[in-house]
Amino acid sequence: MHCNPRYKILFEPVRIGPVTAPNRFYQTPHATGMGTLRPQSGAALRGIKAAGGWGVVSTEYCSIHPSSDDSPFGFLSLWDEDDVRELARTADAIHAHGSLAAVELWHGGAHTNNRLTREPLLAPSAQPAKFVQPGGARAMDRQDISDFRRWQLEAAIRARRAGFDIVYCYAGHDYLPFQFLSRRTNRRTDEYGGALQNRVRLLREMIEDTKEAVGDSCAVAVRLAVDELHGPHGITSEGEGREIIEMLAELPDLWDINVAGSLGNDSKSSRFSAEGFQEEYVGFVKGLTTKPVVSVGRFTSPDTMVGQIRRGIQDFIGAARPSIADPFLPKKIFEGREDEIRECIGCNICRSANNESVPLRCTQNPTIGEEWRRGWHPEQVDNKGSEARVLVVGGGPAGLECALTLGRRGYGVMLAEAGNLLGGRVSREATLPGLAAWARVRDHRLHMLGKQPSVAIYPGSRLDAEDVLSLGVDHIVLATGSFWRRDGVGASVEMPVGIEASPSILTPDDIFAGVPVTGPVLVYDDEHYFMGGALAEKLRVAGHAVTIATPLPVVSSWTQMTDEQFFVQKQLMESGIGLLLSQSLVSAANGVAEFACTYTRRVTRRDFGTLVLVTGRIAEQTLFDALSAASARKRENNPSITRIGDCLAPSSIADAVHSGHKYARHLDLPAGAGIPLRERPSFTTGAKPWNAV
Ligand code: ADP
Ligand code: SF4
Repeated sequence: MHCNPRYKILFEPVRIGPVTAPNRFYQTPHATGMGTLRPQSGAALRGIKAAGGWGVVSTEYCSIHPSSDDSPFGFLSLWDEDDVRELARTADAIHAHGSLAAVELWHGGAHTNNRLTREPLLAPSAQPAKFVQPGGARAMDRQDISDFRRWQLEAAIRARRAGFDIVYCYAGHDYLPFQFLSRRTNRRTDEYGGALQNRVRLLREMIEDTKEAVGDSCAVAVRLAVDELHGPHGITSEGEGREIIEMLAELPDLWDINVAGSLGNDSKSSRFSAEGFQEEYVGFVKGLTTKPVVSVGRFTSPDTMVGQIRRGIQDFIGAARPSIADPFLPKKIFEGREDEIRECIGCNICRSANNESVPLRCTQNPTIGEEWRRGWHPEQVDNKGSEARVLVVGGGPAGLECALTLGRRGYGVMLAEAGNLLGGRVSREATLPGLAAWARVRDHRLHMLGKQPSVAIYPGSRLDAEDVLSLGVDHIVLATGSFWRRDGVGASVEMPVGIEASPSILTPDDIFAGVPVTGPVLVYDDEHYFMGGALAEKLRVAGHAVTIATPLPVVSSWTQMTDEQFFVQKQLMESGIGLLLSQSLVSAANGVAEFACTYTRRVTRRDFGTLVLVTGRIAEQTLFDALSAASARKRENNPSITRIGDCLAPSSIADAVHSGHKYARHLDLPAGAGIPLRERPSFTTGAKPWNAV
């Protein structure tokens, strides 16, 4: 198939200073949770992006000096020659596919923690540390500023030695150069503070220094937050953000523009933002510079991308999450296979990986982060290892992914789903406020399954053990999911709570099944991810008076990992949902719930018309137990029986997809194969202590 002529514009080369990008697809810097500890994993991941057609592939944040240390998070560094050697792997992996390699040189200033290096934090003006930790950053004196300029310059030279084509001056996301730009954090009275001209001075010098050092062969990019979403107190796109661009318009070779305030503003989840949501802030930049501009906005539709270019919003299609969900997005458009794009759902599980200091994972793309350690390629699978026939029971995310990957390998597969609608939990959860994009997990897989001749799908087919065994397959894969508990056992309560069986005490399964609800509604959340908050919102939208109670001091606490907690709590409070925090459910009967304060055990009582328990989940194992009993009775020629996804252990959609994918990848592998490699820190060769370099 050929590229749709409408999309050809996306494949035009674009000059960036001394280098040329082969097309307009620009993978902007994004965290991977790998950093310096997992250089081979990082290199393999970036190499796959280049193989997938991203014309520019950038690293994550890369520290220029030990005074900017983000341990334990997965940041890179270019402090010495060992770093050069390790990062050269990444540049090489990107170059192997003809793409440009970019490195996001970074200094966090007051917005890092230096827990590993134990260096004092630096900032334009003395201020409390930005991370929630006691202590603060000291004001940089002239020597510090001159040192900082030298660190950027030396790191840029190392970056070139490692093979990078584009070197960043990073003035976004509240990091050091941005702290100089913003009135909120720059209170200096010397030539680096006060009027905007002065606050811009350091960034101007950084760009000039970097260009002088490497500008003959490397492009110098500036990543700038043009709005920090603090209103008139901070930089705004109508005010100082615009003025900064005017002042520096032609100085860098490329502008990488976004909004700041925190990472949560920039990589907002789909629950709180639509595709292209940054346009209202960044749209003005191209009108002020002749240099190429890139920005982001969770772009997955080629028509929207073309619109960005034709309407003069940007020259590249910047993407972090869409390139994680589908590293081969550009190639699919180029080959006229845009219907095969695995679109990002905006769930921000990828953000949680960095926030938890573990390698990248993604709901839509089970292969991300597995390129090196498992050798998984997003577009390539091994051919089948036998003529075995497989039955997959359950058409949720685990079952769909498993059947699809088995089909891609060429296995004969039957997929049976009890319901008439496929998608399992995804089909239910996507009906919650703001989560419609999650249905892409189902829709992409169903679309791709339609292209697999060896997979037959049977909706409306609830199977029992007898049905299953009568099919005579070689392998039975159970993807039967999980159900919500009714006994009050949740993340913070191990023992069942005294809860009467009553039509007014429900679980999320009941709500999705349409069981009637009467107000006032009390949602009790001892799971702490999205479900409690999203259900409270759904019931509020339906017109009920709603209170959400939780044993923790904030609602939906795990959404801190997906950078959403602030937005969740704000939304609940603004929609008039009552919050009952730090309260553990002790009993529920006769329309009254009794809570004990998590700290003092003081008792509170609340009347409810409906109580919704969002606590633990239990794997749906009925079929597994019956099949296990049947195989125990019949001792030969038994098919294998394997559980995947939530019916093995209830977890996230991302884990269910990964579980289904892993089964399908491993089927018929030789015994002992499929164990992931572990990266060990490579031992340095002749490195000197950083302060002796
Ligand atoms: P996962 O996240 O692991 O994919 P889900 O709960 O989303 O799990 O999906 C499980 C699916 O399995 C549901 O759609 C459910 O209807 C289906 N299912 C459960 N038991 C059976 C069964 N005995 N026969 C067919 N389908 C079943
Ligand atoms: Fe998109 Fe979610 Fe994957 Fe992140 S984890 S890339 S938000 S689908």
